[in-house]
Amino acid sequence: MEHITEPARPLPVITTVDVCVLGGSCTGVFAAIRAARMGCRVALVERLNCFGGTATAGMVNIWHSIHDTRFETQIIAGLTTETVERLERRQACIRRERNANAGFILNTEELKIELDEMVREHDIVPFLHTMAVAPIRVGERLSHVVIENKDGRQAIAARIFIDATGDGDLAAACAIPFIIEAHPQPPTTCARISGLQGLHIPTLWNRHRDEFAVPEDSGWNCEIPGSDTVRMHADTHVFGVDLSRADHLTFAEMEGRRLTRALMDMVRRHEPDRAQALCLMACASLIGIRETRRFSAVHRLTEAEVLHGVRFDDAIANGSYRVDVHHPRGGGYLFRYLDGTEVSITAAGRVHGRWRAEIAEDPTFYQIPYRCLLHEAVPNLIMSGRMIAADQPAFGAIRVMVNTNQTGEAAGVAAALACAGDCDPLAIDPQVLRHSLAQGGSIML
Ligand SMILES: Cc1cc2nc3c(=O)[nH]c(=O)nc-3n(C[C@H](O)[C@H](O)[C@H](O)COP(=O)(O)OP(=O)(O)OC[C@H]3O[C@@H](n4cnc5c(N)ncnc54)[C@H](O)[C@@H]3O)c2cc1C
Repeated sequence: MEHITEPARPLPVITTVDVCVLGGSCTGVFAAIRAARMGCRVALVERLNCFGGTATAGMVNIWHSIHDTRFETQIIAGLTTETVERLERRQACIRRERNANAGFILNTEELKIELDEMVREHDIVPFLHTMAVAPIRVGERLSHVVIENKDGRQAIAARIFIDATGDGDLAAACAIPFIIEAHPQPPTTCARISGLQGLHIPTLWNRHRDEFAVPEDSGWNCEIPGSDTVRMHADTHVFGVDLSRADHLTFAEMEGRRLTRALMDMVRRHEPDRAQALCLMACASLIGIRETRRFSAVHRLTEAEVLHGVRFDDAIANGSYRVDVHHPRGGGYLFRYLDGTEVSITAAGRVHGRWRAEIAEDPTFYQIPYRCLLHEAVPNLIMSGRMIAADQPAFGAIRVMVNTNQTGEAAGVAAALACAGDCDPLAIDPQVLRHSLAQGGSIML
């Protein structure tokens, strides 16, 4: 490949903050808020036109249970429950008690606006339509991050940086080791569609898919608060892509929309009675990415630690969502539960089994240790969200938003403690971190 050399040029340092958060999903927004509440000046950089990431731009509108698997103990609170309560005041959230599949169903357009409000209330310096493109390091430490937006190429200076980009763009640029699985969980273009209520889409899809040149598949869809007719559809997958690559990302965005159109056309042709009511209201402005890079860290969370409910002295998050790995082809999922059971779901049906023998007492929740967020190679960088260190099945559990939200909050509090103590995040006493998280509304068990 031919190369050219860009001429060197000075970059304006447009702001100097204590904490700079890259990526503005709930992970990033919650990190920014927790740091701001502890007195930090915080910048928040998001490449899209809104905060919320996969939940808003990607339209994914389910937050899972905040209780243990028996629904006896609440294990998650903090900004997850604060945000839910704010949405409930706007009738923008349905709360489902004792439901492991969907604890909260959100109107994610309302969430978008709520996150704007929360960023404003905390005097966070926001940058939308702004891409974090490169780190600047002095020795091992990050001194600045280079951003690009309508004003061109600029830099933000900070003491602590939080990578909440999902793909871990900053961590990758700092050469923190990562893996991308040969078969990462496939992405989905979500869509809001009216007129499909009650239709079993996998049956229709797999019966007629050859006519539309689409792969075997099986997904899900979900109601939207306040609407009787429009549902959020995640019925398709784009298989065999690595969305850390620009060319695959471009292909997947276009392919995801083609599959959405194929679904519409299939219904029109084979369910003609529905044609009148059928309407494609919106395609997500961002393909929903399940899995790209997963980074190394001081500790890598394993499936065994998740499914056996191992407790950690430096736990910063609790979860009860099952291991959920989407099949790399053919659609559907493998679920593994803390009670030792498992089920594989495909268009052909469900196959139930056990991944371990029965034991006297099943664990009811698992934990994420702080060490999964830190790598020694970059002492003033904290990772958060789906990029943190976990093996693929453990990742299948921790990747849901009630969990990623907590990693954001922990990153924000850790960053604030590091600023206050003039130390690196690795030097923070985990008990002080846990105490500060609890003081700010998180549940520490
Ligand atoms: C189709 C689908 C369905 C799912 N269903 C559920 C579900 O029902 N419930 C659930 O809880 N979870 C679900 N998940 C998983 C969950 O949504 C994600 O794992 C989670 O949202 C990841 O959060 P994150 O903050 O790590 O990353 P993301 O949500 O990917 O957020 C990363 C943010 O960083 C921004 N960004 C990226 N790179 C840069 C850059 N260089 N500069 C600036 N900004 C950048 C992005 O625009 C984005 O806003 C689903 C995922 C998918 C794809």
